[in-house]
Amino acid sequence: MNVFDYVRPASVDEAVAAATEPGAAYLAGGTNLLDLMKGGTRHPTRIVDIRRLPGLDRIETLADGAIRIGALVTNAALARNGDVREAAPAVAEALLSGASPQLRNAATVGGNLMQRTRCAYFTDPHSACNRRTPGAGCDAHGGDTRGQAVLGWSEACIATHPSDFCVPLLALDAVVEIAGPAGSRDLPLDALHRLPGDTPAVETALEPGELITAVRLPPSAAGFAGHARYLKLRERTSYAFALVSAAAALRMEDGVIAEARLALGGVAAKPWRSAAAEASLAGAPASPEAFRAAAALALQGARPSGDNAAKIELAGRVAARALALAAAGTPETIPALPASVFATAPVHGATAHG
Ligand SMILES: Cc1cc2nc3c(=O)[nH]c(=O)nc-3n(C[C@H](O)[C@H](O)[C@H](O)COP(=O)(O)OP(=O)(O)OC[C@H]3O[C@@H](n4cnc5c(N)ncnc54)[C@H](O)[C@@H]3O)c2cc1C
Ligand code: SF4
Repeated sequence: MNVFDYVRPASVDEAVAAATEPGAAYLAGGTNLLDLMKGGTRHPTRIVDIRRLPGLDRIETLADGAIRIGALVTNAALARNGDVREAAPAVAEALLSGASPQLRNAATVGGNLMQRTRCAYFTDPHSACNRRTPGAGCDAHGGDTRGQAVLGWSEACIATHPSDFCVPLLALDAVVEIAGPAGSRDLPLDALHRLPGDTPAVETALEPGELITAVRLPPSAAGFAGHARYLKLRERTSYAFALVSAAAALRMEDGVIAEARLALGGVAAKPWRSAAAEASLAGAPASPEAFRAAAALALQGARPSGDNAAKIELAGRVAARALALAAAGTPETIPALPASVFATAPVHGATAHG
């Protein structure tokens, strides 16, 4: 039986003080934490319920044009928000491609960033898992590796990060606002999630007790709004995690790419951004050849972590296709099947085969 204290703090300071104790876990929407507790994967000794903390459920546009999204904003509310849809349509598309309407109504911004891997051996308490129990070994090696990493993995862990939301956030240079025992700090989203190395159990840069209070989209995000897409390849067209995904955003000037952003999901223990791919597109015409070359650069260094070499090919195709769709322009309304490869006809001569 999982015995734990239950604390419902009234302020961020109280929450941080309560969560600094070893074994404590924040509870937001509960869609990931409670599942893992029921399955015997997580055993917090203290639950710090943050759902009623004041002020963390707001979305505000700041004086400089940045959008500040409170950590308790639900995935559904964020995807519906007019300012976010206008400035960062790929964020809304990614959110709407995730989970189900019911889950999106409960799941929060902070919880989505901090959700754990969907590696089946991590969620099975009877399997060996270095991420769950440091030094225990990794039963994923030689097992079912379809969903596992092809970039940035180590012998200790080959798991991927499952979030859709984080992928366009990373492409758009989002910043995470954090409150902790030592005060408040900002962290680029790129620095939040860690690659496994020898210590896969250390998954993020958060220190004990640190609480995500908000995510900020910088004013520059809006410069990509006219040409931004999220594309997700999954085993079912809805209600499934990404096998591979890509967020592509272009700033176009006179038909030429002035600046490009490209991030991949489902390929590593963190959302994966490629500076080399982005640099290759700056100043280039929007062409299938340029998109294929950028996709190949984004997958540079990729290697199978098991029987999953096909993911490298698939990720390249999804990246090239996302870039082509972004170049064609953001649709006025989010497609009926958000982020689906079936939602929009191929453009610029690019097909699902790249
Ligand atoms: C069936 C199913 C399908 C899903 N499909 C998708 C999908 O396709 N794409 C996708 O992206 N996601 C998917 N999800 C995951 C879902 O989006 C996450 O479970 C959800 O976003 C977690 O948010 P939450 O508020 O419920 O977090 P919780 O479950 O409350 O918390 C999750 C973790 O985050 C920590 N945490 C929560 N808030 C904070 C904070 N503010 N600061 C620091 N730590 C915090 C908690 O301590 C916990 O460790 C799916 C989930 C389910 C159950
Ligand atoms: S891949 Fe990582 S999360 Fe999965 S069993 Fe191995 S160590 Fe655990």
